[in-house]
Amino acid sequence: MTRTRFLLATAALAALIALPSHRAFAADNDSNKIKKVAGECKTTPPPSDAEVLFDGTEKSKENWVPERSNNAKVWPIKNGVWVADATDIKTKKEYGSCRLHLEWRVPKGRVIDGQKGGNSGIIFMYRKGWYEVQILESHSNKGTYADGMAGSLYNHHAPLVNPSLPQGEWQSYDITFTAPKFGGDKKVLSNPRFTLVYNGVTVQDDRELTGTTLNRGSKLNYHPARLPIALQWHKDPLEFRNIWIQDLEKDTAQK
Ligand code: MG
Repeated sequence: MTRTRFLLATAALAALIALPSHRAFAADNDSNKIKKVAGECKTTPPPSDAEVLFDGTEKSKENWVPERSNNAKVWPIKNGVWVADATDIKTKKEYGSCRLHLEWRVPKGRVIDGQKGGNSGIIFMYRKGWYEVQILESHSNKGTYADGMAGSLYNHHAPLVNPSLPQGEWQSYDITFTAPKFGGDKKVLSNPRFTLVYNGVTVQDDRELTGTTLNRGSKLNYHPARLPIALQWHKDPLEFRNIWIQDLEKDTAQK
């Protein structure tokens, strides 16, 4: 190898090592291509038929437990705000089809690099199903895969538009989840579906998932009709407030 070739090879290797740690994505799956639009956090109080899942009080934390394989505690409350810490947490109760309202915020000053720095998520049918509505800092983010940005159904569907707000500002998700149905033979009768209104803007309109969000191209696995809903710990201290749920399948709920 000539000296020039050696230097070129070294430079190429250094460039490879310096690449962001998030995985590469196809040009047509670039979050920068999703149109930015105005959005506004909708701070909606719980309707009369809703169950409050978190309202800023220690009492409401009792609706949640840490992920089973982890000894960590349910997240701490700081100044009335819930701060993600050390573990996924999941609802004690199990849910099928539901409407979920949730407000989240990326604290100011986070350094964002694709999937790193401002990542969480809401995982329905935890853990046997696993359908994640992604939470990600997608305002200052220089880019990630579009089906991994805020408002995406992770690994499957990019949001229609991007109404993300800056760090330090509250953002709202209003999610309508239609649970999948399985026959007696455990075969899929209908796939899960999501409608997501993000900061008042519809970014998913009754979108169907053909598999779990753990991987692209994954299949749907049989699972019970009701399972917990989880909030994801992704090593970033995302903040939460005002979480409530409307159970759309009360007739199948445990007494
Ligand atoms: Mg996530």
